[in-house]
Amino acid sequence: MTTHTLELGKFSIGVGDRFAHQAKAQLQACIEAAHAGVEIIPVWNKSNREHNIIGSEPSSTRAAADAAVKALHWNKPHFCDADHINLTTVDRFLAPCDFYTIDVADYIGKPADPATIEKFLKHRSDLTGTLRLEGVREPLEITPHLLRATATKFLFAVQEAGKVYRHIEAAKGKGGFIAEVSMDETDAAQTPAELLIILAAIADEGIPVQTIAPKFTGRFNKGVDYVGNVDQFRREIILDVAAIAWATANLGLPKNLKLSIHSGSDKFSIYSAIYEATKHSGVHLKTAGTTWLEEIIGLAEAGGDGLALAKEIYAEAWAHREELCAPYATVIDIGPAKLPVPATVAKWTSQQYTSALRHDPHSPAYNSSLRQLLHVGFKVAAKMGDKYIRLLETNEKVIAKNVTENLYARHIGPVFLGQPSPVAALAHAEAK
Ligand SMILES: [Zn+2]
Repeated sequence: MTTHTLELGKFSIGVGDRFAHQAKAQLQACIEAAHAGVEIIPVWNKSNREHNIIGSEPSSTRAAADAAVKALHWNKPHFCDADHINLTTVDRFLAPCDFYTIDVADYIGKPADPATIEKFLKHRSDLTGTLRLEGVREPLEITPHLLRATATKFLFAVQEAGKVYRHIEAAKGKGGFIAEVSMDETDAAQTPAELLIILAAIADEGIPVQTIAPKFTGRFNKGVDYVGNVDQFRREIILDVAAIAWATANLGLPKNLKLSIHSGSDKFSIYSAIYEATKHSGVHLKTAGTTWLEEIIGLAEAGGDGLALAKEIYAEAWAHREELCAPYATVIDIGPAKLPVPATVAKWTSQQYTSALRHDPHSPAYNSSLRQLLHVGFKVAAKMGDKYIRLLETNEKVIAKNVTENLYARHIGPVFLGQPSPVAALAHAEAK
């Protein structure tokens, strides 16, 4: 049992490492950020689903993270995130993890018992009216109707989060872990007013939540850019941040509570909006496990056996494309006609392969359909077992360079340091 309270710093990044070989290269990106003057706390996340597909245990993620921290002398905190867990999947994460993403999206829309809803409405009736949030011109309007509708839609889900939270607390002690509540894997985005009401319910449930992951407007497809209305996203995230600030000041939630942005890899066109909205409040950017794509890029770049394996992985993924894509249908958009046939890819040079896969919006060779297919195709590499891992180890240097550079230049720079993102640079170049 821990006696001090674990706290997540202002800026943090969730990194996925499917095959537990890139923790050092990922941590290196945080070290470079520290050199640039910003402390970014690394959080290694891997969901139950990923562990099941790969056939790995959460303890392997912990071991890889701890080894990297030791090897690179990282003396700031680091965490291991039990990503998207619930009461049925959390137990094997209890020992190795100290960060829990409590996913209650499946319970949204299931109503709590009427007495609980009435009690909440009575207790929180002071939320209704016009709420002026600090730093934003647009007020939040919460009508009694909205309060009731939101309670009816979300209270049961928050009660479920409470159950999972208490289950973890019983094992790890109060303050012995970071709690996140996630509601992103659902159809409808939550509005800032709904978010504020949800936070009130979370406070009532006694969950000392440090990060909250709502579903934002627009599509957050895996490993590719944001699809949606950037201006609407900007308005929404500014209000979300203000709603969170209000909640920490008025509801007794932890002072460091901040937004968590899931599937945050490669969302180049909204990075400047995220940076502007969160540079004072802090943010957790959870990347979507695209590190594994950097492994393939590294293998392809290495040529020889590495390139041959990268081609073999594509051919297998292409052959099984329907079954690989099915579980991710809501978070990918692949144009089947845009996928090259394996016979074509078989003739590619290193440069042709990497430029099709690498997410460089400047490059006409970039193929987002191929990228998304390979992104969900990690099962193919998992099946190859030792053959894949051996080549990762032989080509460690070239892969590590790609992993670090992708995290630092394409993600940390624009989101945490306010540097132009690749898309912004592209728009700038086109305007000239
Ligand atoms: Zn998520």
